[in-house]
Amino acid sequence: MSPDLEVPRANVPRQPTTVPTTLPRPHRFEIVLPAEVLIVLAALFLTLAANVDFFRAALRGRTATDPATWGWLLALAVAVTAVHTLLMALVAPRRLVRPVAAVLIVVAAAGSYFVHSFGVVLDPAMLRNVLHTDLHETRELLNPTLAVHLLLYAVLPLGVLWFVRMPTCSWRQAIVRRVGLVGVSLLALVGSVMAVFQPLAAFTRNHHEVRYLITPASLVNSTGRALVGDARAAVTTRKTLGADARPGAGWAARERPLVVLLVVGETARAANWGLNGYARQTTPRLAATAGLLNFADVQACGTSTEVSLPCMFSAQGRRHYDEDAIRGSESVLHLLARAGVAVHWRDNQSGCKGVCDGLPGDTVAVLNPPGLCGGGGCQDEGLMVDLDRRLAGVAAGPRQAAHLWVLHQIGNHGPAYAKRYPTAYRRFEPTCDSDDLQRCTREQIVNAYDNALLYTDHLLATAIERLRAQADHVDVALVYVSDHGESLGESGLYLHGMPWALAPKVQTQVPMVMWLSDSLYKAQGLAADCLAARARQPARHDHLFHTLLGLLDVQTALYEPAMDLAADCRGAPP
Ligand SMILES: [Zn+2]
Repeated sequence: MSPDLEVPRANVPRQPTTVPTTLPRPHRFEIVLPAEVLIVLAALFLTLAANVDFFRAALRGRTATDPATWGWLLALAVAVTAVHTLLMALVAPRRLVRPVAAVLIVVAAAGSYFVHSFGVVLDPAMLRNVLHTDLHETRELLNPTLAVHLLLYAVLPLGVLWFVRMPTCSWRQAIVRRVGLVGVSLLALVGSVMAVFQPLAAFTRNHHEVRYLITPASLVNSTGRALVGDARAAVTTRKTLGADARPGAGWAARERPLVVLLVVGETARAANWGLNGYARQTTPRLAATAGLLNFADVQACGTSTEVSLPCMFSAQGRRHYDEDAIRGSESVLHLLARAGVAVHWRDNQSGCKGVCDGLPGDTVAVLNPPGLCGGGGCQDEGLMVDLDRRLAGVAAGPRQAAHLWVLHQIGNHGPAYAKRYPTAYRRFEPTCDSDDLQRCTREQIVNAYDNALLYTDHLLATAIERLRAQADHVDVALVYVSDHGESLGESGLYLHGMPWALAPKVQTQVPMVMWLSDSLYKAQGLAADCLAARARQPARHDHLFHTLLGLLDVQTALYEPAMDLAADCRGAPP
């Protein structure tokens, strides 16, 4: 060991004979700032670094030559700075100012990246998506552009923060200073808002969502609201849905068991669906499938999995949308199970968002079918590994049995569209093979997206083939509907999750197909051409609840025939 290291530091250099009352601090570069000054500086940094998109939205339609524009900009900048000053001043005592500022800076850097790159809105629904995203999905969002952004807007400022030292003061002084800062910030906030009250009122009324661009305040607010909502849902038991549910009159007379395969798609948009007349044939196999019903005009219930999935399995739907009521209630799956339907949920994504809680289910990742799972998750064909065996099992079982098997796809989940299909489906080229959409041309992004649709086409057509092969022994039906659409660069937007009121059609219009075996048409007295005609009319996620009740022949007072896509076509002579 080097002898130097054994010498206590305080002894070198030799102390002067008059010993100072406090020992000198270890030598390092320091920026000495009172805690309150650091708070204001951190708030100013957040205003300038993380709110570019907020100011851009606020300045839309204004001209730089108009002096009012500058007054407007200044007032907003003061207000945003005051909000973040208050946020820190109210929660962080002196010792916690640095860690709180550090967390806000990192959160703001990440938030502003996603706002800027994808045009997302950081509302509670989006934050719920983020909080419920699994590891694979998170990994796909990490890329070099994000790393550079974080280096500039998080790592560098944190480096500066590291050198800040806040001198101590008496608790009296600390309280006086803090109360002063809060008071001045409140005055600045109120003053700046009053100064531009008229235009601000009009602006927030017309652009309700812009407040979600105030970063990181909106992120903190949205995360809090999402967590509170989740916590409330976790402690309240779900309300029973359809306690009167019972098997319909047809069950006793059933000649064969019934299997309805419900494939819940992911991020597939109607605009790129070959069957809907998209310029490219992205659904060649379904197009060649006899008896396939394509619903060309279907509106989703939301623009994200977190909203759409609970909503499409709820009695409320978009017609009577009430998030708390939906999340606080059982889903149609629980209702069907209570009536005696054997419900099973198989997931190849981040879970069923509560709609299958307590019901039998499994995940493709755990099944781990050979050759289909890897570092980036599992391919959707894993959902069907044992389909033949399951169908054979049902065929050998009681003829009154009714089964609903839900397959929850990873589908077209972005931004890594190219990871969603095996290389055999890389038909539209060149593709965007990066997780970082900014490194790709729009053409490459759309090519990868369309290839993922080709793979879903293959999945659905194969499922129908296998169902058809068992149709002599089992009455079978397939229903496919995507949860929401996707933006692929239109108006600078990518991905999905826009607030409902603002969402473009590409995020809300989804593909949907249905296929029934001939024996099921006969067993339920369904007229095929009637159903084909219904498929040409508009439909919505709201129809799913009642259509499932009809197909599975379950009776409850909640059933509305007008919302069952097949109701008007029943009653044909067998
Ligand atoms: Zn989704």
